[in-house]
Amino acid sequence: MDSSRVWRAYLLGGMVVVAIYLAMPYGIGRDLTYVAIGMSSATAAFVAAARSRGGVRMLWALMAAGQLAAAVGDAMWVYYEHVAEVDPFPSPADAFYLLQYPLVAGALLMLARHHRSPENREALLDSAILTVGLVLPYWVLVIGPNLGGYESPLEQLITLGYPFSDVLLLAGLVLVLATSRARTAAGRMVIAAMILVMAGDMIFVLTGDAIVYGMPISLAPFLLSYVIWGAAALHPSARDLLRPTSDTPPAFTTGRLLTLTAVVLLAPGTLIVQLAFGFELSAWPVAITSAVLFVLVVARMAVMLRRLQHQARRLDEIARTDMLTGLPNRRTLDAQLVRDYERTAHEDVPLTLAMLDLDHFKRFNDTYGHQGGDQLLAGAARAWSLLLSSADMLARYGGEEFVLLMPGRDLAAAEHLLQALRLVTPHEQTFSAGLALWDGRETPLRLLRRADTALYAAKTAGRDRVVRADPPSETEGPSLEPSAFAGG
Ligand code: GH3
Ligand code: MG
Ligand code: MG
Repeated sequence: MDSSRVWRAYLLGGMVVVAIYLAMPYGIGRDLTYVAIGMSSATAAFVAAARSRGGVRMLWALMAAGQLAAAVGDAMWVYYEHVAEVDPFPSPADAFYLLQYPLVAGALLMLARHHRSPENREALLDSAILTVGLVLPYWVLVIGPNLGGYESPLEQLITLGYPFSDVLLLAGLVLVLATSRARTAAGRMVIAAMILVMAGDMIFVLTGDAIVYGMPISLAPFLLSYVIWGAAALHPSARDLLRPTSDTPPAFTTGRLLTLTAVVLLAPGTLIVQLAFGFELSAWPVAITSAVLFVLVVARMAVMLRRLQHQARRLDEIARTDMLTGLPNRRTLDAQLVRDYERTAHEDVPLTLAMLDLDHFKRFNDTYGHQGGDQLLAGAARAWSLLLSSADMLARYGGEEFVLLMPGRDLAAAEHLLQALRLVTPHEQTFSAGLALWDGRETPLRLLRRADTALYAAKTAGRDRVVRADPPSETEGPSLEPSAFAGG
């Protein structure tokens, strides 16, 4: 039988045995059936550990040890009940039952840790909020009423050990759900099994080993958890339990928001219900959990805000930068031009602008390939940038065209700088440039167009040169712009 059949056979067979168990009359036979189910589940987990490698092996080994501890507890329970004929509670069996929780919680921690993501801190805070919020009703309904009234402190301690262990399990479970997308079939079954263990503990503490229609119904969740856990261990995906299924962490969905809101509202909700129905008030537990929840929610907001601010800065940077060369892009140039206009006019210093265009770049691309062309563009940008002052701004205007903005340089100084740039251009590549001095009045569009016209003149004059633009002519009507330039 291949492994895809084995787990199904185990699951179905296990369900049948659980049904038989529930129908059996009280006696050692029934309780031994219980032990057998537990042992089979532990064995399946050990098989999964043996079949897997690395962290997954450790994870299944921890879960197998936990299962085994519980099954040994079951066996001891049978011994006390049927052979020694003493009350099995409290007894050393409880020590084994309780041992199951830290082992399983350790496995859950491994599962959660493996799926660490950048948004992990937020997920951690979400799970902390969920756990603290859920502990409150647990405290009010389960732990509180069980405080006191026991024959011995040991008995008291053991009885409280179960709900406290459940809190541990709950914390681990919530952590896994909040931080990971443990969305393999085996992972889902493990989570379902753990939920059943917690439900079983809750029912057991609230009702004891109650018999419903002659059946020990309250034990059914434990048995089902054994069966589902065993099936998970035998499932083909058991080996992939730690494989991340997606790079992106679980999104902050509406479901998560509603869950968090509901859980946070449990604190005031508890008081409201108690006030409305005249129950004894759980003032201390509500006050303490509310305080912790407030701190957690504020921390959650702070962490999220910081992440959003960081993202906003990053996006802003991306929007203003040309990805290939790392230079400012056209959008940034336009904004800088306006700033430089104001500053140079105010300080009465010259402002020159050059438009650069690589010569015969199409040919370069044809010879060295597009990637080679890309490398030349990036290399030229790097080499030129080294010669610029902090006031200059070199921007990629588009394609193989660049604009160099030089506040504080007159035409001669700007021409000097451009000659220097020609010397450092990689691969003996040449460029042509049109150079224009701002007259103090013309619009940025017109200044750019004068430089562009000069560039065109440099190209037609034979390339590999810098041409100064004509001064702005008064005759050139404003009707030509801005539409004439915006198009090109
Ligand atoms: P001219 O001397 O007249 O400027 O000739 P040219 O070949 O440089 O000019 P043309 O406008 O005919 O061709 C420009 C070429 O630049 C064509 C295009 O494939 C190339 N180019 C534009 N942007 C990029 C880019 O980002 N990477 C690469 N590799 N090539 C680019
Ligand atoms: Mg061009
Ligand atoms: Mg060109």
